[in-house]
Amino acid sequence: MPVAHRIAKLRQRLAQEGLEGLVVSDPLNRRYLSGFTGSAGHLILSQSAALFATDSRYYEQVGQQAPDYQLERVGYEFIENLTRMLGQAGAKRVGFEANSLTVAAYAEWVEKTPGIEWVGTRGLVEGLRAVKEPDEIETMRQAVRLTDAAFAHVCGFIRPGMTEARVAWEIEKFFRERSAVGWPAGHIVAGGPHGALPHARPTDRVLQRGEPIVIDMGCILDGYYSDMTRTVILGQADARFEEVYSLVLQAHQAAEDIARADLSSQVVDNTGRGIIEAAGYGEYFGHGLGHGVGLNIHEAPAARKTQGEPLVAGMTLTIEPGVYLPEWGGVRVEDLTVIGPDRATPLTQSPKQLADMVIPL
Ligand code: ZN
Ligand code: ZN
Repeated sequence: MPVAHRIAKLRQRLAQEGLEGLVVSDPLNRRYLSGFTGSAGHLILSQSAALFATDSRYYEQVGQQAPDYQLERVGYEFIENLTRMLGQAGAKRVGFEANSLTVAAYAEWVEKTPGIEWVGTRGLVEGLRAVKEPDEIETMRQAVRLTDAAFAHVCGFIRPGMTEARVAWEIEKFFRERSAVGWPAGHIVAGGPHGALPHARPTDRVLQRGEPIVIDMGCILDGYYSDMTRTVILGQADARFEEVYSLVLQAHQAAEDIARADLSSQVVDNTGRGIIEAAGYGEYFGHGLGHGVGLNIHEAPAARKTQGEPLVAGMTLTIEPGVYLPEWGGVRVEDLTVIGPDRATPLTQSPKQLADMVIPL
């Protein structure tokens, strides 16, 4: 992974923020800026230095995966070496990542680094991560392709009488047998009333003919996530499913059609949400319409009812409106798209028309 230009971009950001250095402790930010896939270590970055401090388990791996960094063999004595390393980097006013450092760790850093002025930062590296490079998009395209294949497989597998957990495991198995892994928290397979909880976890509830089944699934391939939702029904769709599904799909399509660079993600949310509200279902769509995906399942940008940010070409954005009716169930349709100058291009290719969601028995 070529990380030199990412480091260069971060150095620009540090200069803009008036910081002489940054200690990176978030694992995904560490991976993004270094290429290192191991599970422990800190980056210390300044205008002149790029240091990688870790323990002996990873000395060799850092040499192989993070050649842009000078390895600091600090063992388990990171904090004891921190003042020395910051001195070497020429940094006195130094950022830390407020979202990944515990209060206890922060107190210890302050105590053991006299003379260092610590400044909490939020989203510095995440902001860079939000705009994907072509090779990142390519990896995500492959993760989405695998997800499309897993969905096609599950449509041929799912039958009334199976438990949600059984179907979720079948999805996981599909990914594992193809050198990917599913989401750490598991896939969502939620039938009937259970689907009215937007983030339901699969249970031993038995799936029934004629009820909506929300399937929200994805994998991790080479570190990058995919994310897709489809809502299927076994046997035959009734009038209510047809009405709710058509509405959600219309909202989904309108949001997907309007999304593009230089538009606020809030406008994308409000476009889809407006359609659901106009049909009288606004109170049944509580979550945001979309989010970025990358090294993490939920990352910048967010598209919410009252929150957004300007979309930039190269960002990813899910488009996932839903309607959740207590006692009946939920319908959600989610594609993963890439923002371009004039439009959002869906990576997701799985069918989503109403007729495609009815699984014949
Ligand atoms: Zn999802
Ligand atoms: Zn999502």
